[in-house]
Amino acid sequence: MLIVHRSSCCDVCLDPYSWQDESTLKEPYAIPCGHIFCKECLERTATSTCPLCRKRFSRDSIKKLHMDAPPANDDSEIVQKLILAWDDELEVVNVLEEVEQWLQRTESSALLQLKKVQADFQKFKRRKADDRFRIKRLESSLMHLQRSNEYDRGREADTIEGLET
Ligand SMILES: [Zn+2]
Ligand SMILES: [Zn+2]
Repeated sequence: MLIVHRSSCCDVCLDPYSWQDESTLKEPYAIPCGHIFCKECLERTATSTCPLCRKRFSRDSIKKLHMDAPPANDDSEIVQKLILAWDDELEVVNVLEEVEQWLQRTESSALLQLKKVQADFQKFKRRKADDRFRIKRLESSLMHLQRSNEYDRGREADTIEGLET
C-alpha cells in the first residue's frame, strides 16, 4: 500500500496530489525513470523528458499510481501536536488526553514511536514539576539571604553611627 502524505505534492506545479478525484488531474503518475508527477504536468511537458532528470519517456509508458488516502489521524500529526503543546501547560494536558484516546482506538506496532514519545512526555512533565519546586525553594532561600543581608547591613550602619556620635 502506498499512502499519499498530506504534504506530498507534484514537483513541477507544487500542488498537492489527489488520490480519488480524477477530474482535477492531480493524481500521481510515474514515468519509467521512476519520477512521479501529477497527470496535468506530465500532459503539459512538450518534450517528453522528465522535468527532474531529463530522461526521455514515451507517452504510453506513463503509469497511474494507485494511492491510498492518509489515515484520518496520522500518528506523525499527533506527535507534532505533542511537541507544539510542550510549553503550554493546559494544551499539553489536552493533547495527552487525545493521545491516550487515540492509542486505545489504534492497535499497531507502528505506534511504538508514539508510545515512546508519550512516555518521555510524562517523564519530562514530572521533571518539569520537580524543577519548578526546586526553583521555588531556591527563590525563597535567596530572599531569606537578601533579607538577613539587609538586616546585617542595617546593624553595621547602626554600629558606625554609634561610634561616630
Ligand atoms: Zn503537477
Ligand atoms: Zn526522472
